[in-house]
Amino acid sequence: MTTATDPTPATEPTPLCEPCQGIQRNWRGAPGHAELRQGNNRKELHGRAEVKITGYFCDRCGAHWHYTNDKRNQRAGWSLAPD
Ligand SMILES: [Zn+2]
Repeated sequence: MTTATDPTPATEPTPLCEPCQGIQRNWRGAPGHAELRQGNNRKELHGRAEVKITGYFCDRCGAHWHYTNDKRNQRAGWSLAPD
């Protein structure tokens, strides 16, 4: 009868295309895929180390990725842009 309030936030992530789903996240040196188009890049300080973050847009599904290039962090790499 009454519909229970869904506790999950309404922000459904955009469905990723297959190549995007195949990207290994948070792993240094993991490859992207052929349909990613490179966007802007910026530099950020992580502690005392400067890392380079490059934006990529997927031509197929429109996903916005960040690739973090941090030589000192094996867990840096691909992540979906928080937007
Ligand atoms: Zn995609």
